Amino acid sequence: MNDTQTKPILVGYTRPELEALIASWEEKPFRARQLEKWIFEKAARRFEDMSDLSKLFRQKLQENALISPHEVIQTTTSSDGTTKFLIRLSDGQSVECVTIVQERRLTACVSSQVGCNVGCPFCATGLSGFRRNLTPAEIVDQFLLMQAAVNAGAFSEYTDNDRISNIVFMGMGEPLLNYDAVLKSIEILNRQVGIGIRRITISTSGVIPRIERLMQEPRDYSLAISLHSVNPSVRDELVPINKKYTVDELLKVTRRYTETTGRRVTFEYTMLEGYNSSLQDAEALAKAIKGIHCHVNLIAYNPVGSKFQAPPRAEILAFQNVLAQAGFPVTIRQNHGQDDMAACGQLRIQSAEIPLPTVI
Ligand code: SF4
Repeated sequence: MNDTQTKPILVGYTRPELEALIASWEEKPFRARQLEKWIFEKAARRFEDMSDLSKLFRQKLQENALISPHEVIQTTTSSDGTTKFLIRLSDGQSVECVTIVQERRLTACVSSQVGCNVGCPFCATGLSGFRRNLTPAEIVDQFLLMQAAVNAGAFSEYTDNDRISNIVFMGMGEPLLNYDAVLKSIEILNRQVGIGIRRITISTSGVIPRIERLMQEPRDYSLAISLHSVNPSVRDELVPINKKYTVDELLKVTRRYTETTGRRVTFEYTMLEGYNSSLQDAEALAKAIKGIHCHVNLIAYNPVGSKFQAPPRAEILAFQNVLAQAGFPVTIRQNHGQDDMAACGQLRIQSAEIPLPTVI
């Protein structure tokens, strides 16, 4: 057995778990706080860098624990500073995550699964099939590896901030199909890393029973819904989970979510020419989401070698105008990293070990 199978991987430990681990080593409770500071706040990657820990304690840590077995194997930066990280996990699988620079603020986009079995045909990850769920440690560590790059000055040209301030679960995978691990990772990112709960957004393709479960949680999570169409047959094609959880039901549960939690949801709407981008589509969307406390985010499609393409800019603006006239806050998401590989899953697909594409 190797170290990753036998030693605790600390980036996946909540505060109570860390305290229990420290107690089991018969160390003083304040050690847990010290360790937490180094790992989660400073994104330290080596015990020997933890300068205020005694040599003896560092030695104990070295022998009995791992901060993390994950490593960055590739980064790609586009002209706007958006940087994709390809991360190798302990079993040789890889995931990608992205640091997005927006008005000199840093947002981390993290993955929740290796691949995805929702199978949206316009999505690079959807084209790659599903491998497995990520553990809380593997989710949290995407953030920590990106924060370590920030600490090393990788983004100094693009921002004056030395912290990543927001997290979105919009990378590879359907977060609500890896529910427990995602919620545990959010717990760690919120309580130990210090990212405000309102600055963490879970994006879902519409797994209705899990949205209902999320509503029952004691904390109010920010939710984004990958809507892409309100026309049932178009959505069946674009987001195949729609065949199981229909758009009508999804909008009903979303409405209840906003009423129960008091939180505004974001509707993500990837614009695909000839599928969902006409003025009639905009009017249908405005009608379907009327009265839901929401924000609409229009995304110009970033081609991933599929049959889809983005509509012309004028068409996107006209679509936006219909929604704005109907009173919705609506933005057009800048396509970060367009000159590189901006769609989720693309960096992983291009790495040598992945045999692709396999449509599921
Ligand atoms: S768009 Fe999201 S839900 Fe759909 S296949 Fe891609 S990762 Fe999965």
